[in-house]
Amino acid sequence: MIDEVFYKKLIADLSNTNTTLVAVSKTKPVEDILALYNLGQRDFGENYVQELVEKQPQLPADIRWHFIGHLQSNKVKYIAPFVSLIHGVDSLKLLQEINKQAIKHNRIIECLLQIYIAQEETKFGLDEEELAVIHTQLDSFTHARVVGYMGMASFTNDNEKIHKEFQHLKSISEKHRLPSPVSRLLSPILSMGMSADYKIAIEEGSNMIRIGSLLFGSRS
Ligand SMILES: *Cc1c(COP(=O)(O)O)cnc(C)c1O
Repeated sequence: MIDEVFYKKLIADLSNTNTTLVAVSKTKPVEDILALYNLGQRDFGENYVQELVEKQPQLPADIRWHFIGHLQSNKVKYIAPFVSLIHGVDSLKLLQEINKQAIKHNRIIECLLQIYIAQEETKFGLDEEELAVIHTQLDSFTHARVVGYMGMASFTNDNEKIHKEFQHLKSISEKHRLPSPVSRLLSPILSMGMSADYKIAIEEGSNMIRIGSLLFGSRS
């Protein structure tokens, strides 16, 4: 069951901003995705390769699929034919593999570099040193196009801490500027904010939020 009232209100709120909503549909049935699609939603995010590969052919072809989970290099090939944006790029090796698979399928795959901003062991992401190394090699990736950054704040009630972590990501995005491709009129993507912290994320400069449970209900 989707929360249609919440969705419409959120879309109205976002319409004055340049923030893109990614509806996170992991573990949810294709019927729910289609219900949101029928309200106009086109960007959907999934975390698991197997699940995404099963759902994608059952749904309209104009959906933009975002892969937001932790991606293993050996699984890139399964989503490379259709994925639009991979949010969780956290190693040079993964970026190389995405580039290789994108070449194979003769398409451009847009990517976000995931930056480690939380103080939680469980979260993935690059530190600044690793990021700097990747930056020196960006030109060599002809088909994996890095268009921004993604990060996840700590899971905490301490709003001050969440503000700080998102500020940190924003400052990294400004310090390590990405070359702006002529084909893209938009500013670099800053993917930050989920159900619990999207309002804070927008205050701190997010332009892409990833919302699951507030749209589709909590996951078991
Ligand atoms: C599951 C998930 C989300 C959505 O989480 P909600 O709290 O349900 O909004 C967003 N981003 C990532 C990376 C996720 O894994």
